Amino acid sequence: MRFDNYIDGRWRAGTEYRSNLNPSDQDDLIGDYAQADAGQTGEAIAAARAAFPAWAQVSPQQRFDILDGAGSLILARREELGRLLAREEGKTLPEAIAEVGRAGQIFKFFAGEALRLHGEILGSVRPGLNVEVTREPLGVVGLITPWNFPMAIPAWKIAPALAYGNTLVFKPAELVPGCAWALVDILNEAGVPGGVVNLVMGSGAVVGQALSESPQVDAVSFTGSVHTGQRIAAACLPLRKKLQLEMGGKNPMVVLDDADLEVAVEACINGAFHATGQRCTASSRLIVTAGIHDRFVAAMLERMAALRVGHALEAAVDIGPVVDAAQLRRNQAYLDVARSEGGQVHGGELLERDTRGFFMRPALVVGAEPHMRISREEVFGPIASILRAEDYAEALAMANDSEFGLSAGICTRSLSHASHFKRHVQAGMVMINAATAGVDYHVPFGGRKHSSYGPREQGSHAREFYTLVKTTYLNAGSVPA
Ligand code: NAD
Repeated sequence: MRFDNYIDGRWRAGTEYRSNLNPSDQDDLIGDYAQADAGQTGEAIAAARAAFPAWAQVSPQQRFDILDGAGSLILARREELGRLLAREEGKTLPEAIAEVGRAGQIFKFFAGEALRLHGEILGSVRPGLNVEVTREPLGVVGLITPWNFPMAIPAWKIAPALAYGNTLVFKPAELVPGCAWALVDILNEAGVPGGVVNLVMGSGAVVGQALSESPQVDAVSFTGSVHTGQRIAAACLPLRKKLQLEMGGKNPMVVLDDADLEVAVEACINGAFHATGQRCTASSRLIVTAGIHDRFVAAMLERMAALRVGHALEAAVDIGPVVDAAQLRRNQAYLDVARSEGGQVHGGELLERDTRGFFMRPALVVGAEPHMRISREEVFGPIASILRAEDYAEALAMANDSEFGLSAGICTRSLSHASHFKRHVQAGMVMINAATAGVDYHVPFGGRKHSSYGPREQGSHAREFYTLVKTTYLNAGSVPA
């Protein structure tokens, strides 16, 4: 079946179509998806531009109704959309259904934000004046998203963009157009007026680049790799576009001698391997102090051996496939490099199966050193490395020895170490006795260093990016009584 782009309130055929296959089973065709070219992307931008003045004036109640309605539709179709997500991206069905649920809740949260958006009235430091600080929609926003959370990430960009009065052009990742199409179909059903939400599926080099380079796009919110983020920044910053970049991570999880071993192992298994390790917040660097190191490694290997890898839709599966052949090759190449640099690789075998899927067992690299590539670069697969530290001080130094700073965790029973870590670790998010992955939608999300650039996403903080601040001075004496 063919799925088209959505521009100015109409479904529009692409210049070409791209087949989308299930990573658990390459014989399962999900659909053929329209590929926009630069011209069609330009039409989507023009439609968003034309729709902006009217949408910016829509009452908060009307915006609430549409976003709340979209949230309800998503939640009502959670199972069906979860199956689509599991087929398309490869998360296990429970993980996929949970992600869809989160997308629905995000729309409901931002429905409320449309009502809560407020300004401030202050007295002036000069007599006779009042000062108002208000927020206005910023205009047309380009949203560029990755494949690993194909419902939640688009939701946490689209919902605030609309809640705060912007129109948008949405460019999903090439590997997950099905989820994007379903989301836009629901927004249409929920009553979003034509031109307010536009969907352009296609390649990053064509559609994403056109969004970044267009002077008619006022702001770009991007989630994806550092490399792509840098290209987008290079195109957007000379045009003085507002920019929000959420990029990679190499998230440290420190395990101290006094940790509860069971809690630490569960946090690391979940953080490193669930969602096939394909999370920007994955616990990919496990930094373990000497006194617990060997017991921790043994417990991790035992727990890993029990993880069931297989088709995302099968019930008795803990870990689904890797997203595609290229990512599978990349993961294997990282294991080869880790071996050649002196690490001991446990796991990581490719599974022989009847179906044509990209299955790989989770892998642990023991004996990793801080300089090794496996300790420094984001792999984005079911692979974690273990670095041994002598004590807490060395563990903290290792945790901060990274160009990334997205999330960081510590497992300890010591309140003083936990609180010291919270203050001194260079990360945007800190988890104590919990996996570095797995976040709430009503609080800020983002990192430091090369992981993030620009205002935070999610929660009420999202308004920093999606609105413009205006300060008005009012001469109180000049206003007629
Ligand atoms: P990617 O950078 O390859 O692609 C992301 C998006 O950018 C896609 O839609 C792609 O088509 C588009 N794109 C590619 N080239 C472009 C260009 N020149 N101009 C404009 N757009 C372009 O990333 P991916 O492989 O889809 O996702 C994996 C990456 O995403 C990982 O690095 C991961 O850490 C990161 N990620 C970060 C977060 C976060 O919030 N920090 C969340 C999820 C994923």
